[in-house]
Amino acid sequence: MKIICIGRNYAAHAEELHRSVGGPAELLAEPLWFLKPDTAMLRNNDPFYIPTFSSEVHYECELLVRINRVGKCIDERFAHRYYDEVGLGIDFTARDLQREAIAQGLPWERCKAFDYSAAISPVFIPLRELGGDVQQLHFALAVNGERRQTGDTSQMLFSVDRLIATVSRYLTLRMGDLLFTGTPAGVGPVKAGDNLCATLEGRKLLDFDIR
Ligand code: MG
Repeated sequence: MKIICIGRNYAAHAEELHRSVGGPAELLAEPLWFLKPDTAMLRNNDPFYIPTFSSEVHYECELLVRINRVGKCIDERFAHRYYDEVGLGIDFTARDLQREAIAQGLPWERCKAFDYSAAISPVFIPLRELGGDVQQLHFALAVNGERRQTGDTSQMLFSVDRLIATVSRYLTLRMGDLLFTGTPAGVGPVKAGDNLCATLEGRKLLDFDIR
């Protein structure tokens, strides 16, 4: 399986990222995507250990979409047939290394694809249980009990179906692949001892500690 991640899919986060790490200020004309390997998965609400190579690891809470069939060059109109469950994840990012990569025009793997950088909720919820519209979902992340991020999928710059259409032009999607759909504003650093707790439509899906 593979983990496909979308960058800068909420305007307010694109703006905070531009201020924090540089890169272009204008909105994208086409979705920005990158991959994490399967070794990036952090499952079962296991603790996240801050890696030694970064002094600024940030959380990015994101809606996850699980692909449920094989597809390539999927038309946006039919993309909804390729998923029926959603979850939550954290796209852990070594922001200091990302700042270097952007400044030097280098790839993002070092800052994004490291071991355990993709926390994935143990439970995925059938979309129909949540009303059936992937663009009408609300999620939130609290750090140590304090709300830090609030996500409203109607605010995505590119819809889930558009993301699937774009990515599948380049990559064959397979059953079990995971799509991280981008983070809303409010990203920030983690430190040892923090607790991350994330809810999707009021249901707690992530609850784990930073060490
Ligand atoms: Mg992200």
